[in-house]
Amino acid sequence: MQIQNYINGKFINPLSNNWIDNYCPATGEVYGQVPNSSKEDVEKAYQSAKSAFKYWSQTSFEERSEILLRIAELLEANLERFAEAESKDNGKPVSMAKTIDIPRAASNFRFFGHAITQFASESHESVGQNAINYTLRQPIGVVGCISPWNLPLYLFTWKIAPAIAAGNCVVAKPSEVTPMTAYLLSEILNEAGLPKGVLNIVHGLGATTGQAIVEHPEIKAISFTGGTQTGAHIAEVAAPMFKKLSLELGGKNPNIIFADCDYDNMLQTTVRSSFTNQGQICLCGSRIFVESSIFNRFKNDFVEKVKQLNVGHPSEIHTDIGALVSKPHLEKVLKHIDIAKSEGGKILYGGNKVIVEGYENGYYLEPTVIEVSNNDCRINQEEVFGPVVTIMPFKTEKEVLEMANSVKYGLSSTLWTNNLKRTMRMSNQLQTGIIWVNTWMLRDLRTPFGGMKASGVGREGGFEALRFFTEPKNVCIKY
Ligand code: NAD
Repeated sequence: MQIQNYINGKFINPLSNNWIDNYCPATGEVYGQVPNSSKEDVEKAYQSAKSAFKYWSQTSFEERSEILLRIAELLEANLERFAEAESKDNGKPVSMAKTIDIPRAASNFRFFGHAITQFASESHESVGQNAINYTLRQPIGVVGCISPWNLPLYLFTWKIAPAIAAGNCVVAKPSEVTPMTAYLLSEILNEAGLPKGVLNIVHGLGATTGQAIVEHPEIKAISFTGGTQTGAHIAEVAAPMFKKLSLELGGKNPNIIFADCDYDNMLQTTVRSSFTNQGQICLCGSRIFVESSIFNRFKNDFVEKVKQLNVGHPSEIHTDIGALVSKPHLEKVLKHIDIAKSEGGKILYGGNKVIVEGYENGYYLEPTVIEVSNNDCRINQEEVFGPVVTIMPFKTEKEVLEMANSVKYGLSSTLWTNNLKRTMRMSNQLQTGIIWVNTWMLRDLRTPFGGMKASGVGREGGFEALRFFTEPKNVCIKY
């Protein structure tokens, strides 16, 4: 199957006729081709967005809202087709794509379709100076959205929906590793009546297509989700051009378990927070710290539960863990496991490739649990982004807080305790943008979403995203 770019409401081949292979992770086979779009393709997409902006920036909130809601409905009506495509492209269990990825992509459009009707700008009365200030919140113009492979449509739409809701026109690039659902989305956009040119989707490699978007002098803002190294590179290119930047990057999230927690709920949730989506969620808790009084109990119970997870073909109903996204990624994760072993990590479970009958070339890996004795080892410091967690005991609150914060990342943390004062103390001091207490991945789309330190700059979600995608302009009138 050949994927095409979607520019000015039409499906077109890349101008250079340059293509990349698209692999199915469950079988290891090539099943299609993706454009590797050039600077010229990006320019074409930009020109289309620029001319659509004249009209789109002047549409009423109601009109934008109606279109976004229609996109959400059409995604829901096509749930099965999208979920199967996402699973085939990414390797994730189709059950997950059906219950998480695609419903959330629809929610993103619905949420911002509603949010834009509630978005308001401020006014400030300058008492004593006979003046009133009001702030305009105008769309920026043409903006760039670049997303990763782990939650393909979910994260792609998390950027696009607020960008177009706020009146911008977009040049967007999904990951070249998982382009399929972004391509299918293009079909829905026409059906929903999104005017041509408002959203243009160009496919291709980061170094060619992504770079051309970031370098484009007239694309005024870049919303990026992906690796920390890529984020640093994008910042280097974009900052001297004074572009607005939103960077959602990597993580090495602590999962802190105190003895006074609700044990069963914690255990069940910790299995999820470790291995959902093959551990390939930026929010997965990959460093598990357990209070020493329950460490042995936790270790045994956790390993028992992990043993029960089924690794298998993504479309099998009993599969808990599907295939990793690509061969290079599988090899990278295996390398991390080897490093952990060489640094004294003890493999409590997993660590090996899995051969799934009938799909011997697929990229399957056992869920892996490693016991470590200090937080400075590389497996506790570097992002693995796979089905690999470490566990380690701690004695005091102070000690665990220090270890939790002793990484370059600061995306999310999970805290398991029923002690209110401890919850408040720890939440005040944890250096992460998101803190879950006695839960994980509970998402309210109104909340600020993003990381500190090397996990990013800026926040997505709710009005934060609408503020990012608008330019505030203050008007001061003296009377
Ligand atoms: P990546 O950085 O390799 O790629 C992300 C996107 O950037 C892709 O579309 C890629 O083509 C593009 N890209 C690469 N080089 C580029 C360049 N020079 N200019 C412009 N674009 C470029 O990341 P990935 O491997 O696709 O995704 C995994 C990473 O994403 C992990 O580090 C993970 O933690 C992170 N992530 C973060 C969040 C978050 O919300 N903080 C969410 C999901 C994933």
